[in-house]
Amino acid sequence: MSNVQVAVVTGSNKGIGLAIVRALCKQFPGDVYLTSRDPGRGQAAVAQLQQEGLRPLFHQLDIDDLQSIRALRDFLKEKYGGLNVLVNNAGIAFKVQDTTPFAVQAEVTLKTNFFGTRNVCTELLPLVKPYGRVVNVSSMVSCSALRGCSQELQQKFRSDTITEDELVQLMAKFVEDTKKGVHEKEGWPNTAYGVSKIGVTVLSRIQARLLNEHRKGDHVLLNACCPGWVRTDMAGPKATKSPEEGAETPVYLALLPSSADAPHGQFVSDKTVKAW
Ligand code: NAP
Repeated sequence: MSNVQVAVVTGSNKGIGLAIVRALCKQFPGDVYLTSRDPGRGQAAVAQLQQEGLRPLFHQLDIDDLQSIRALRDFLKEKYGGLNVLVNNAGIAFKVQDTTPFAVQAEVTLKTNFFGTRNVCTELLPLVKPYGRVVNVSSMVSCSALRGCSQELQQKFRSDTITEDELVQLMAKFVEDTKKGVHEKEGWPNTAYGVSKIGVTVLSRIQARLLNEHRKGDHVLLNACCPGWVRTDMAGPKATKSPEEGAETPVYLALLPSSADAPHGQFVSDKTVKAW
């Protein structure tokens, strides 16, 4: 088993994830894994970074596929005895003009952005070593979507005692409510992406609390963040930040020095903690 440090970035064959891998290859003192659900797209991205003189490693990872997540988990356990940095970046968004029925958009979006990210956390967080750093890429849209929720839902999502099971049930209820056509009546905002990112932000708050309760002495720091509005296939060419600029806050959180004890359990944008 190697003593080399290791960082993993999900969904990193393009966009912000690729820019995070590029920055980590330059700044992280260890092995950096570019991961992709499609090995062809992943290897092409690795080759692109190699052309720039960088040396990322590759592992397949589809966050929708539990077997794929567990294969990565077993690989990391076997080769490195754990994990030092995990950036949960993989995500999807339907385009505004997409005519797919809203209930389908809700199910598909929640499946990857919330349930997939949660499955990665369930499998990989136990592997995170002392002084490890976990970054969950959420979005400012989680904040606006939260404000669009009923008072009752807002209270639940801001609660300091909400459990992971309760959050999972709420996310599943959103999907069910969209299928019944009652999501607005039930207090949800009209955005599947926004609700999925509420899930990511609240999940991060819960996981940070659990780390405090069970692994306080390990100094692991876990945060959610927004990369900003970034020119990628997801956000389009009009967005204000380059992928490299979008990577800045996630990379800052991934490389918080071992002397740092904050931020932890926060929502961070432009390297600044924002109120939830
Ligand atoms: P992007 O260019 O569309 O890239 C998304 C990445 O996620 C791709 O590599 C994609 O792989 C991967 N992915 C999707 N589903 C996956 C799955 N099931 N398993 C593994 N990988 C999967 O989007 P981006 O703008 O870089 O977004 C990155 C993250 O930032 C997302 O979480 C997004 O919600 C968040 N974000 C973006 C913005 C923005 O303005 N761009 C703003 C706020 C937050 P494929 O190539 O195989 O599809």
